[in-house]
Amino acid sequence: MDPILDQFESLMEKVRKNNRGADLERIREAFRYADAQHAGQVRKSGEPYITHPLHVAAIVAELEMDSDSIIAALLHDCIEDTGSTHEDIAKLFGETVAALVEGVTKLTRVQYVTKEEEQMENLRKMLMAMAQDVRVILIKICDRLHNMRTLQFQPPRKQREKSLETMEIYAPIAHRLGMQRVKWELEDLALQYLDPIGYKEIEQDLAAKSSAHEKFMVSVQTRINDRLVAEGISATAYGRVKHIYSIYRKMYTQNKTMDEIFDLYAFRVIVDNIPDCYNVLGCIHDLFKPVLGRFKDYIGTPKPNGYQSLHTTVIGREGIPFEVQIRTQEMHHTAEYGIAAHWKYKQGLSNGSLGSEETFEWVRKLLESQQDTDAEEFVRSLKVDLFADEVFVFTPQGDVKSLPAGANPIDFAYSIHSAVGNKMTGAKINGRIVPFDTPLQNGDIVEIITAKNAHGPSRDWIKLCKSNEARNKIRQWFKKERREENIATGKVMLENELRRLGIPVTEAMSEENLPHILKKVGSGSWDDLCAAIGYGGMTAVKAGARIKDELARLGKLQGGKVPAAAPQSVIYPGMAGGAQQSIPKAPKHTESGIVVEGLGNCMVKFAKCCTPIPGDPVIGFITRGYGVSVHRADCPNAQFDHTDAQVAGRWVNVAWVEGDLESYHTALELSAPDRDGLALDVATVLSTLKVKVSGLSARRLEDSTALVVVELEVKDKAQLTQVTNKLSQIHGVSTVKRVTG
Ligand code: MN
Repeated sequence: MDPILDQFESLMEKVRKNNRGADLERIREAFRYADAQHAGQVRKSGEPYITHPLHVAAIVAELEMDSDSIIAALLHDCIEDTGSTHEDIAKLFGETVAALVEGVTKLTRVQYVTKEEEQMENLRKMLMAMAQDVRVILIKICDRLHNMRTLQFQPPRKQREKSLETMEIYAPIAHRLGMQRVKWELEDLALQYLDPIGYKEIEQDLAAKSSAHEKFMVSVQTRINDRLVAEGISATAYGRVKHIYSIYRKMYTQNKTMDEIFDLYAFRVIVDNIPDCYNVLGCIHDLFKPVLGRFKDYIGTPKPNGYQSLHTTVIGREGIPFEVQIRTQEMHHTAEYGIAAHWKYKQGLSNGSLGSEETFEWVRKLLESQQDTDAEEFVRSLKVDLFADEVFVFTPQGDVKSLPAGANPIDFAYSIHSAVGNKMTGAKINGRIVPFDTPLQNGDIVEIITAKNAHGPSRDWIKLCKSNEARNKIRQWFKKERREENIATGKVMLENELRRLGIPVTEAMSEENLPHILKKVGSGSWDDLCAAIGYGGMTAVKAGARIKDELARLGKLQGGKVPAAAPQSVIYPGMAGGAQQSIPKAPKHTESGIVVEGLGNCMVKFAKCCTPIPGDPVIGFITRGYGVSVHRADCPNAQFDHTDAQVAGRWVNVAWVEGDLESYHTALELSAPDRDGLALDVATVLSTLKVKVSGLSARRLEDSTALVVVELEVKDKAQLTQVTNKLSQIHGVSTVKRVTG
């Protein structure tokens, strides 16, 4: 029989077995069409080209995907390598198949030239965003898998390039989509070319000890099976040596020899239901000695890519540690095939078993909005809108830039440098000159044409651009360009402030004082100072305070020209009579990390009721004799009657000076159903985050809710948010909030 037809029939066999309801006739037509299109083409291996699409289709069928995906896999190289067009395919096999083939073709055309890690992440995102329909990326991964399996026929340079790309781009995407089995194979294949010697070493080492491995695994497997039978649990247990790349990575990152690798073996126990997972765990821990701290419950808390299992590491009689993974059949299928598994376990989609963390957030959202629609239909319409609000484009050098969706060459130019934007006179996308407001598409190569004597940005650009970065930079340019206007506004603002402080402008500008004052504010001239205030480079309040300081230092403020400001007399009782002492200098650094508007480095304390930290909007209250008490702006104790002049006058604006203090004291309150070990879990999380804890107390409410109050030291709000997120992931924790009021 013709080997090609033979291969096709074995594909059909797979389809019949794995893809119930598949449209066999259309698949046959697609094969005939692709075979005719690729006629005469040969692969580097010498085989007819059609063998490649046939293999790819077989991998797609093994993933149990739908007919359209299998057909698209058969046709996936038609647009790229034969005379077929999108229209031809659409006419013969429908718009969906044509769109899938077109999508795979687009991904194939993306060039990878960059090698930096951050760029890799952008490339991964770009591919996912370009895919639009998740099936495109799945077919592309299957295509890559077959190309990697047959990489030995390519020249060495190509082998290296493809392997690097596979390791950096495709294996991580497969991982993100939860396709463990494909990910492992891609990694092992890539490693063979990237470090052939390292790969061989491990392979030979494993082969040399294979009978020992085999013996060990059989003995463990038998012990597990016997026990489970005795307990009446129906389960399948088997062992395997971990895949080569995972051993390789452990050896190199932990600098160990193969004998020192902690767990070379992984055992799996597949059971019927979740309660049995935990029952089996109990048996395993009874049979073997568990290694402390290695138990992980990914059933209770699935991994971001949807993975669920119980993991534990135990040591047998032989003294060899090994990992045991316990999961249900459905979890197992998801672990092996990831997103592709949902073509089979579609009902799994509608009960949210996919895990709810970030990576699959888009799937979850789709689920919520489509709960009533047919699951099959849902999968068909599944779109990769994971990065829908971003667009990824290349510089002519091959660097990837991520911009907001809808961004145009103006945004691109300013994302490179403001000088590039300000001197832009033209733009090219993929080599063609385009208008500045042309929206960029994923994968575009964008080039900006600049001229030394360019006029600078046009005012319209502020409206045309989509990124805040570009908008701010354009505004900045206008601010600097509109100097006259800025001087005029700045002058008014500064004069007002000086008047408020009781300083005559003539005094500040006198020939005698002006040089000192300019030095103090760091400006070259009075106009420069006003311009800076005009465009917001310096506040009038700050300039006024400095001028006042300087005049005081020069002894020019005697004779009651400056009335003693009431707040100061409160904070600095010693100064109440006037400015005999020098007024504290406007601080570059503060002791508290807070500056108080209009006041120097005064005494500051943080309110105990709301424990503000940098990043919180704050407000200060001038206490009698104890300095300024700083509250969070939303603290109940900071809400006051603005019409009551007596009270309102004592509230002052305050601001953070970043980087002045190492840490700030604050407090969080967690609530969770009371359980043993809750406080311990909280303490463990805080200690892994290396957060300094100054107090931890727990109490139980009548409804058996536990409240845990943690007092801690943090640098700023960003760190606190991180801590809050981690704490809320603790099993059972329902809320984590700041302690207020
Ligand atoms: Mn291909």
